[in-house]
Amino acid sequence: MKAHNGMYIDGAWRPAAGRDTIAVVNPADEQVIAEVPAGTAEDVDAAVRVARAALPAWAATAPAERAARIAALRDVLVARKDEIAETVTAELGAPLPFSQAVHAGVPVLVAGSYAERAASYAFEEKVGNSTVYAEPVGVVGAITPWNYPLHQIVAKVAPALAAGCTVVLKPAEDTPLTAQLFAEAVHEAGIPAGVFNLVTGLGPVAGQALAEHEGVDLVSFTGSTAVGKQIGATAGAAVKRVALELGGKSANVILPSADLAKAVAVGVANVMGNSGQTCSAWTRMLVHTSQYDEAVALAAEAAAKYGDRIGPLVNAKQHARVRGYIEQGVAEGARLVAGGPEAPREQGYFVSPTVFADVTPEMTIAQEEIFGPVVSIIRYEDEDDALRIANGTVYGLAGAVWAGDEAEAVAFARRMDTGQVDINGGRFNPLAPFGGYKQSGIGRELGSHGLTEYLQTKSLQF
Ligand code: NAP
Ligand code: MG
Repeated sequence: MKAHNGMYIDGAWRPAAGRDTIAVVNPADEQVIAEVPAGTAEDVDAAVRVARAALPAWAATAPAERAARIAALRDVLVARKDEIAETVTAELGAPLPFSQAVHAGVPVLVAGSYAERAASYAFEEKVGNSTVYAEPVGVVGAITPWNYPLHQIVAKVAPALAAGCTVVLKPAEDTPLTAQLFAEAVHEAGIPAGVFNLVTGLGPVAGQALAEHEGVDLVSFTGSTAVGKQIGATAGAAVKRVALELGGKSANVILPSADLAKAVAVGVANVMGNSGQTCSAWTRMLVHTSQYDEAVALAAEAAAKYGDRIGPLVNAKQHARVRGYIEQGVAEGARLVAGGPEAPREQGYFVSPTVFADVTPEMTIAQEEIFGPVVSIIRYEDEDDALRIANGTVYGLAGAVWAGDEAEAVAFARRMDTGQVDINGGRFNPLAPFGGYKQSGIGRELGSHGLTEYLQTKSLQF
């Protein structure tokens, strides 16, 4: 797609208030592929005012009509799926088949699910002598990261629109083209002017202005825990609602009764997909001491086979950061069995699929979110030990449990302090609530739970 030299505000592409721009870089070859305007507080203010003005009419629009607009949006995402996949590949670096299946495919499912939900949700219910109305919270400030650039936009905007909210989006500086394409899709879908607005720009400038704006009723943020804490504090001080989808350090717990080869193979693939840039990735593999050596050999083989199919990391900073973590793992005494800190290619921000053995639970690589293609294999002695290790980080976003018997896996999963657990390789479900325990966040996205984030209740007593 061709980059827009403006902000999508009030149903049109408007020139930015300032002259600064953001260069969009293809991380596979380090070439600048486009420039987009870097929005300022002035652009944010214009967008929030427009969103506020559009709120009463959109909130009063019948849910069936809001559903029809979201369904039209889904249809545009389907019609433009190739362009979406190519755009994500160009600015994020994901291999094209992954962009097609996941980056372009999942948002279609999520948008479709909210078209259905908007049409069928009970926005009004009787409770004793009361009628309880579910009303939109108002103007939403959405701040999204680059790792699943369209999914994270749709996971906020679709339920917000279904609820009757209006939105101002500040997407990640690394992936603004996907956000511009989404704005085109909104326009094509006939969503009324002002209901969705886009301000591209830098986090500490446009992002912060949006989070602090008094015309915003709910800030929905996905990204790092460090920025999330700041946004939570700002929102708290203003008694503003906030939803935070933050980092993770999820455990892949392989119980002794599991199909070890399958659990290891799926576990490694789970981390390598999207080059390890997935907040819910199972970056810690927990293996019983009796199966440890076999698991390490299987994981090393799986990572080596992954080889060239892996895409680059998103930018030079993440490239340096992830390689730094790998060096730190070696320095702290973990044993490299695949990959390593050396860049495998001269050009592009590539990191080889990396596996560490002999990782202990307190090592930095077992505690901090690396956000790269790095698996740490940790040994446990018994189930209680495995549980203590699995729960032993500040995070709690996702995880996996493998066992010969489903009930055994479920019993373990119920003791994990985490928001989602896949049992024996359970599939992604776009209707299941997604979100964190502990410092992985506040609130849930997707499905009905994701919709209620954008609603507040009013009860009338009779
Ligand atoms: P980030 O800084 O938290 O970025 C997320 C979003 O917040 C981006 O749109 C960013 O804008 C914006 N932002 C940054 N500072 C802000 C501020 N002070 N006020 C308001 N908005 C602000 O994350 P990152 O720098 O891209 O990545 C750093 C690390 O975060 C990664 O290594 C990874 O560990 C974690 N991360 C987690 C997720 C997740 O899904 N949980 C996603 C991405 C990253 P800019 O794009 O301009 O920075
Ligand atoms: Mg940042």
